[in-house]
Amino acid sequence: MSITQCELCGRECACRPALVDGVRMMLCPGCMRHGQGVREIERPTTDSSSQTLLSRIKRPKVKDVYKDMDKELVSDWNERIKRAREKKGISREDLGFKIGERTVTIAKIENGDLRPSDQVVKKLEKELEITLVEEVKDTTPLSYGSHGQGLTLGDFIKTEKK
Ligand SMILES: [Zn+2]
Repeated sequence: MSITQCELCGRECACRPALVDGVRMMLCPGCMRHGQGVREIERPTTDSSSQTLLSRIKRPKVKDVYKDMDKELVSDWNERIKRAREKKGISREDLGFKIGERTVTIAKIENGDLRPSDQVVKKLEKELEITLVEEVKDTTPLSYGSHGQGLTLGDFIKTEKK
């Protein structure tokens, strides 16, 4: 092993490459252990046994947060569909034909008797140019606290009439 200078403490020793806050540096064993944000770089190896070990160490795949974001039908989906369809001036038959659903299905959906499948929702959104799903967000108590107890309308008027 060649002797190099540690890029953190300057000690000359058998330094090894590591990532320090995303920056590649040569580090001595001491810095490797105690530095903050230090991640030892794994050397690619042809040794099959250590390769299987590496793949075993690998963390399980983290789900894509954005792809997994919960989406839910808006509460007035049936009304939105009906209104959008009427605005476009097309009949239930026409709409059903456009998205490949039966007229009775469209009627049931508009009456709120039938919850459209994700596929149908997508087609309706595209055809009617409306939004039928919304992201379900966690409402944190913190944001409620900072906004919920703000100025009331009365306070606002008082301030204005000063
Ligand atoms: Zn060092």
